[in-house]
Amino acid sequence: MYYNDSSFWINILCGCVLIGLIPAAIAHNKGHNFVVWWFFGAAIFIVALPMAILLKPNARALEQEAISTGGRKCPYCAEIIKREAKVCRFADAKLSLYLTRFTRMTYLSFYNKLIQVN
Ligand SMILES: [Zn+2]
Repeated sequence: MYYNDSSFWINILCGCVLIGLIPAAIAHNKGHNFVVWWFFGAAIFIVALPMAILLKPNARALEQEAISTGGRKCPYCAEIIKREAKVCRFADAKLSLYLTRFTRMTYLSFYNKLIQVN
């Protein structure tokens, strides 16, 4: 009997472990724990797959990951943009014109002096 053969159960186990990668990958792309979803998917794939598809993205985790892989928050709209970006594609703002508090104060005091002279 094939069911009594240990290789049958090993094949089933390997199949579950492999098929569990699908919901795990979907959940991981939405910022959730890959290993937890891999176990869940391997154990009960038929439940884990629709749950992974309907899962809401974990915005905070995705943001953290984007920052750790070379992104930064736009000072205008708080969207994650590339670190080297000079223009924000979300806010359509020129980031090079973004002044720190110090440079803004320096600029303002210089501007005020100009006004007083004229
Ligand atoms: Zn922006």
